[in-house]
Amino acid sequence: MLEQLTAELAESVARVWRPREELGFVQWCRDNITLRESESPDYAGRYTPAMVTPVARLFEQFLDDPTQRLLVLSKCSQSSASSHALFEIVRRVERGVPGNIVYVIHSAEEARNIGHRLDALLADCVRAADIVDEVPADDKSTLVKRLPGKTIWLTGAGSAGALASKPGVSLVVVDEVDKHKLLKGEAETIELASQRGKTVGDRKVVAFSTPTTDDGQIWRAFLDGSRMEYVCPCPQCREMIPLEVSQLRWGHCKDLAGEYDLHRVLEETLVECPECHGTFPDDGKRGMVDAGEWRPTNYHEEVDELLEEEAGDGGGEGGEIGPRPRWQPGVMSARLGDMHSFWPGSSWGDLAVERIKVGSDPLKLHGFLNNREGKPLKQGAMAAVELRHVDALRGAYRRGSVPVDPDIVVFAADTQDAAWKWAICAFKEGDCYVSDYGISLSWREVMERARDGVIYEGDERMANICGVDEGGHRAREVRKNVLPLAPWFVPMKGLGGLQVRSVLGWRSHQVDPDADASRGQAVETVECLTFDDDGFKRELYRDRILSGKKQRDGLAGRSIWFPIDMDESFARELCAEQLVKGENPKTGKIGWYWRVKGSNDFGDAVKMCLILHAASAAHLRGGLKMED
Ligand SMILES: [Zn+2]
Repeated sequence: MLEQLTAELAESVARVWRPREELGFVQWCRDNITLRESESPDYAGRYTPAMVTPVARLFEQFLDDPTQRLLVLSKCSQSSASSHALFEIVRRVERGVPGNIVYVIHSAEEARNIGHRLDALLADCVRAADIVDEVPADDKSTLVKRLPGKTIWLTGAGSAGALASKPGVSLVVVDEVDKHKLLKGEAETIELASQRGKTVGDRKVVAFSTPTTDDGQIWRAFLDGSRMEYVCPCPQCREMIPLEVSQLRWGHCKDLAGEYDLHRVLEETLVECPECHGTFPDDGKRGMVDAGEWRPTNYHEEVDELLEEEAGDGGGEGGEIGPRPRWQPGVMSARLGDMHSFWPGSSWGDLAVERIKVGSDPLKLHGFLNNREGKPLKQGAMAAVELRHVDALRGAYRRGSVPVDPDIVVFAADTQDAAWKWAICAFKEGDCYVSDYGISLSWREVMERARDGVIYEGDERMANICGVDEGGHRAREVRKNVLPLAPWFVPMKGLGGLQVRSVLGWRSHQVDPDADASRGQAVETVECLTFDDDGFKRELYRDRILSGKKQRDGLAGRSIWFPIDMDESFARELCAEQLVKGENPKTGKIGWYWRVKGSNDFGDAVKMCLILHAASAAHLRGGLKMED
């Protein structure tokens, strides 16, 4: 297996084109690229990597290493990543590297801009200009250039999929990834660009963007890759350290009134070393950045390593095994902010002044994170509940019993097509003890189980309040079943979106929706408990299950406990729902919604117990309002 892999790798490496002479990307750019005022107003003329050292080095590391396939860069807004991608296209033209090229950006207008920039760069590179000049005018439009041995397509993102699947494509550039509109049902742009038939190794994909939020394409792709950071030697302790906005120090730049003196901030802001805590000024930046380097950070944690060593895998003499990479070979990802920039307006003082002005304004802060730090805004996403979370909440009691003298016992049944899945819980001072659960095929069995209740120190405690959900097409049946048992047993109905007027409420429902009083038919009604479904899901999954550990560490919050002999199949149903952002498959709208993977009925039954507990507490406080 390993031999076969090695052979395949060697073969694909051999297929990769090698430069005629070993000339690195950066040196090639120095020799061949001239920048017009329009390409770079800040440094027109002969190319030099001085202004953009980290980006130039990153592109060289990626482009000149035949084993690298995908480069993902989450970057600040002024990074010259597009320029460097264009330089590589010119290099491939100039050197006669075979293979087609696709450049994808988010709009047709931007694609034309890129086309004009490429035309200028090609025209100003002598040997590339000679090649392009020989091609008839019809074959070199702004968006499609048919040159000897290669075609270059520039496109707005709409047709990215079609272009990326064209044969013979050896370089794909995906620019402004987070602005690409995704077509329904189509894969994301980076994925499309990386897709490839059986042959691998001879295509390179470069994807970059200013990030938006942490659920955006570029940041997720960054997390999947090697997560390289640019580190520089501290001028004092010589440790290789990152440079982050959080290391800026301007606290000493106050005027007599205690306000920040922005002129002083601009001139006197320092950076603090996270290792030695020494501080140093902006004038050392040049030397630091020149002596810096890209380092991958996406390694398995040492804890994982230790566990695996204990498992007996061994490997390495004397425990001297290096950290184990967590990214796929050939997938390089990097993040770059303005702390390493030399553009006008990007000194450490400039960044500190801007950060002070941004203050705590959430919108401005979002822009600062994206455009200056190359970082996304964190969304209020909720971690998914996993089996280990539920497992960690097993209490010292068995199914059917509870370990505390309950304040109230509640029973809830989730209506299935041909059965009920139920759960019974006891509450003590707001803490929930799930006592038992099961599946019943008849309504009689459901009632009996509710009556049997839970056992505390040998005594049976009957459920104080019970609920059953109206369950879609079985609503009439549920109301009929409940009618003689009300108010001990109540029908329940979850509301979502605009329907929600209050967290909990009562609505009067006609037992038989077709009964017509005007025809002298008896019209019976039951009170149905309505609830804000999303709110109680958050309470169950986020506030109770996921924060279970915090609660045991003595912080505020309400707990949930499960019996020690709980089955895995039950626990699994509590892991089926996750709050995610995206297109809601039910409504087609973009936003937060609960994604359900697999059966979640027991999760619903436990959630209904929380609702019944909340409703009885509200009842004690003076009752719930009728909604209609
Ligand atoms: Zn230091």
